[in-house]
Amino acid sequence: MYDVVIVGGGIVGLATAHAWIQREPRQRVAVVEKEPRVGEHQTGHNSGVIHSGIYYKPGSLKARLAREGNRRMVAFCRKHGIAHEVCGKVIVAADESERAGLLRLYQRGLDNGLQIRLIGQDELRELEPHVRGVAAIHVPMTGIVNYRQVCEALADDIRQAGGEIWLGQEVVGLVERGDGVVVQTRGDRGQTAEYHARLVVNCGGLFSDRIARLGGVDTGVRIVPFRGEYYELSEERRHLVRNLIYPVPDPNFPFLGVHFTRMIDGRVDVGPNAVLAFRREGYTKWDVNVRDLGESLTFPGFRRLARKYWRQGVAEMIRSYSKRAFVRNVQRLMPEITEDDLRPAPAGVRAQALTRDGQLVDDFAVIRQGRVVHVCNAPSPAATASLCIGEYIASEYVAPAVSHAI
Ligand SMILES: Cc1cc2nc3c(=O)[nH]c(=O)nc-3n(C[C@H](O)[C@H](O)[C@H](O)COP(=O)(O)OP(=O)(O)OC[C@H]3O[C@@H](n4cnc5c(N)ncnc54)[C@H](O)[C@@H]3O)c2cc1C
Repeated sequence: MYDVVIVGGGIVGLATAHAWIQREPRQRVAVVEKEPRVGEHQTGHNSGVIHSGIYYKPGSLKARLAREGNRRMVAFCRKHGIAHEVCGKVIVAADESERAGLLRLYQRGLDNGLQIRLIGQDELRELEPHVRGVAAIHVPMTGIVNYRQVCEALADDIRQAGGEIWLGQEVVGLVERGDGVVVQTRGDRGQTAEYHARLVVNCGGLFSDRIARLGGVDTGVRIVPFRGEYYELSEERRHLVRNLIYPVPDPNFPFLGVHFTRMIDGRVDVGPNAVLAFRREGYTKWDVNVRDLGESLTFPGFRRLARKYWRQGVAEMIRSYSKRAFVRNVQRLMPEITEDDLRPAPAGVRAQALTRDGQLVDDFAVIRQGRVVHVCNAPSPAATASLCIGEYIASEYVAPAVSHAI
C-alpha cells in the first residue's frame, strides 16, 4: 500500500512527489508515468522561461505561486547545478495603441509586488537594439532553463529519498476500494499492473480530465488542447535577440503572444502561436485523433468559445499555415526579421481547461473528490511555479482531510 500514487511524471507530478517526500520521508510515494521518460509532454515542449508572475491577477494562486516559484526554481537549479540564467525580459508596446495595455500590465506587476521598471525607447534600444517599440516594461527577474533537466533532477531526488517512479505505465483505471484506491495500469506491451494507494494525485496534464473520469468523477471542465508552434532563428541571426522579448498580451486570453526567447542552449525560438490541436499530444498539423477532436468539438464550452473568438481563431490558423503571415506578425516588434531567418522548430501543446459555459479557466485549479486529488488546470506558468504547486498540494492533502476546492 502506497501512501500516495501520483499519476503523471510531468513537472507538476514530480514536484508534488518531491514535496511530499520532503514533508513525509517515511511515507511510500510513487509516480506512474505512461511515457518511457519523465517530462515528455507539456514540460518538455515549452519555452523554458522562468516567469516572474507579472501577468496574473493579484491574490490568485498563479500570481502567488509564480512569484515564489521563480525564486524557488532559481534556487533549485543553483543547488542541483542545472544550467539557467536570470537574464530578464522586456514586454514591448509596439505602437501607441498598445501603451495603455502596457501601463495596465505595469500596474499589475507593481500590485504583485515585483520590482519592475517602465522604460522608454532609448533604454529599450540599449537592452534590445533590434526591437521597435514606443515603451516597454523591464522585468529583471525572468529567467531561462531547460525544464526537462529540472525533471531529471527532481526524479533523481525522489529516487534517492526512497520514492518510486514507474515509467511506461499508462493509468487505465482508478477504483476506490476499502480504505484506498486501486490504480490500474497497462504497459507498452499490454502487461497490466495494480498499485494500491491511500491517496492518488492526478497530475495528468493534457489527460487530467479523462483520468478524473476513469474514477467516475466529472471535474466540470474539459481539457482543450491548443498547439503552440515555434520557429527558430537561424544561427547567423541569433544576435538580433539578446534575451527575451514579449508583446503586450491580449487580456482576453491566457496566452502571452508570440515572443522571442533565447533558450538556455543558445538557440532563439520565436513563438508560440495558439491553434486548436486535433490531438491532445499532437505536435504537428497533421496529427489527428478522432476521439480527441470529437471531444473538443462537441463540448458546449468549446463551441461557445469558438463563436465568441472565431476572428482571433481564424487569424491564428492563417499564421499557422502561412509563414509570411507569421513573419508579418513578428515584424511588428522586430522589423528586420525575414522569412529566410526562420526555420520550423518543435511545437508544444497546452492543456487548457474550459468550462461548459465557454470560460477559459484562468487560475490553477485543484479539487479533491474522495481519495483522489485532481490538478484540473496547470497551464503556464505551472513549470515556473511547479515547486510551489507541489508544496501546496502536499501541505493541503498529506493528511486525508476534508474536500478542498480552489
Ligand atoms: C508551448 C508551451 C509553452 C510554455 N511555456 C512555458 C514557460 O516558458 N514557462 C512556464 O512556466 N510554463 C510554460 N508552459 C506551461 C508548462 O509547460 C505547463 O504548465 C507544465 O509543464 C504542466 O506540467 P504538468 O506536469 O501538469 O503536465 P505535463 O508535462 O503534460 O505532464 C503530464 C504527464 O502526465 C502523463 N500522463 C497523461 N495521462 C497519463 C496516464 N493515463 N497514465 C500515466 N501518465 C499519464 C503524461 O505522459 C505527462 O508526462 C508552456 C506550455 C506550453 C505547451
